[in-house]
Amino acid sequence: MTARILNGNAIRDQIYGELTQEIAALAVAGIRPGLAAVLVGENAASQIYVRSKIAACEQLGLGSWMHTPPVTVSTNEMLALVEELNARDDVDGILVQLPLPAQVDAKRVLEGVDPAKDVDGFHPVNLGRLVSGRAGLVACTPAGAMEILRRSGVALEGSNAVVVGRSEIVGKPMALLLMHANATVTICHSKTRDLPGVVRRADIVVAAIGRAAMVEPDWVRPGATVIDVGINRITDAAEAERIFANFPAKLAQFREKGSVLVGDVHPAVVDVAGAITPVPGGVGPLTIAMLMSNTVKAARLRRAQAAAFVTKGNAPGAVAAKP
Ligand code: NAP
Repeated sequence: MTARILNGNAIRDQIYGELTQEIAALAVAGIRPGLAAVLVGENAASQIYVRSKIAACEQLGLGSWMHTPPVTVSTNEMLALVEELNARDDVDGILVQLPLPAQVDAKRVLEGVDPAKDVDGFHPVNLGRLVSGRAGLVACTPAGAMEILRRSGVALEGSNAVVVGRSEIVGKPMALLLMHANATVTICHSKTRDLPGVVRRADIVVAAIGRAAMVEPDWVRPGATVIDVGINRITDAAEAERIFANFPAKLAQFREKGSVLVGDVHPAVVDVAGAITPVPGGVGPLTIAMLMSNTVKAARLRRAQAAAFVTKGNAPGAVAAKP
């Protein structure tokens, strides 16, 4: 059996098509959603991520701004920048690229972002809304994984879903989203006993562990749907030979470039699963697509709130309507 490949690039393009229409409709109303990205220091991976996020904004016609404080920036300086962005009306979304330098209190900075502009969905207010099943901004990677499942027609209601990983940005929100979709969810982590046995019971496996090729073929129930969130770069030749023993094209790629990407799921799981996301080209493209979607959503919600505020006669300087 060879699994159906759940193509993240195709689903991203579908979402971009829908967003393009929504952005055009907002433009008619004089609204151009905008994203401000804050990138501190010279971290190469962060620079690539932020550049691709800005490029996506430009592709869709969203406003975008990049702020690059020096690596010596203090927590107070970061808080002041976030406050400035909170106050700007043309900024609908604020993205603080992680990791931040050690001297910066990342939690305080993330909590300083106005929840209405928290397009990463990391603010405790948005996490709380997710827990209680209320509308809010949801973390992009798990939201993207849900889009893949829904748009690929994977049945969620009543299914057994196992999420491996319990981070704030992937595992926990993913488990909550699956639960709200009426799956029966098990969350696994580094202290889980008999992890392969637990994963084997799943109709849907989500791997968000950060360990290359950890989920082996004999962990997966034949026909299960596997969402591989992991992105790991292999630079060791022996490890590449071991993981990609039966994937000559990937080995050739490694020999040519000196590195190759692999998920948290072993590539041979493709022979057991019913459907699987590839790495790269699976969950990754959806993360940026959902950031764009969250920015448009934030613009819509914020303007709707502002309009309601004005209608009620509460706007600054507004005169209360006479009864
Ligand atoms: P993280 O914060 O390091 O969390 C990893 C989780 O995996 C933790 O809950 C940890 O358990 C668990 N874990 C670690 N080793 C384990 C083991 N041996 N057995 C069982 N569980 C284990 O990582 P993350 O930020 O959630 O990211 C997970 C992966 O997704 C990474 O590969 C990352 O690069 C990737 N990622 C991809 C995207 C994308 O756009 N596709 C976005 C974000 C992240 P404990 O809680 O017990 O420590």
